[in-house]
Amino acid sequence: MAYIIAITGGIGSGKSTVAHTFAKLGIPLVDTDIIARQVVKPNSFAFRLIVEKFGLSILRSNGSLDRINLKKRIFKVPSDRIWMESLLHPVILKKSQDSIFSINSPSYIIWIVPLLIENRSYLFRANRVLLVDTDYQSQIQRAMKRDNMKYEEVKKIILVQSSRQNRLSFADDIIDNSGYPQDIRDQVIRLHLYYLKLAKKFQITLSIRDIRSISGN
Ligand code: ADP
Repeated sequence: MAYIIAITGGIGSGKSTVAHTFAKLGIPLVDTDIIARQVVKPNSFAFRLIVEKFGLSILRSNGSLDRINLKKRIFKVPSDRIWMESLLHPVILKKSQDSIFSINSPSYIIWIVPLLIENRSYLFRANRVLLVDTDYQSQIQRAMKRDNMKYEEVKKIILVQSSRQNRLSFADDIIDNSGYPQDIRDQVIRLHLYYLKLAKKFQITLSIRDIRSISGN
């Protein structure tokens, strides 16, 4: 089983950008955002419940969910957001675990979990937490540009997400992404070398445990 590094951070902090830098070093990724998109594919169980709740106006012209519009709506109404999270998180968690177990890596894997701190059932499954930290203004500007959202809309999402202080208190490691994209690489390489060592120790511990269970000690 691979050693699991969970990457987290607020909206637009740079989680995907950092994760893909690890991927360029050959490290497998499991992305809960991709899984979240798969579980709401047209005609899936979650898709049908969401359309029943929010109506046909939540669909794009091709019949798929308009996820950005949906995101804006659920962040306006707290009870809708809670409804949505309790529908999707158990399925996403189960599918994440299936993906993690299906990866045959002797080293470590990167698991991208935006709501790791907000949802402890993810937190308990990670061996280590890597926080991508960015200053508030950059976070807002980047999310606005990427998702074509207004300043107030991004601010609303940030307000319901865990605070930067809270995230920092759960982090084992931090990547500072307040600077230029090219500043990420050196930080990733430093952590990569460290994670390779941790993963090796983890595999040795697992092997010892397996030997003990076979020999009954
Ligand atoms: P997250 O996955 O945390 O929501 P992304 O990795 O998608 O964040 O980054 C948000 C946006 O900001 C993307 O469009 C990305 O290309 C851009 N971005 C990421 N890091 C930087 C950076 N250091 N400087 C400028 N833009 C960045």
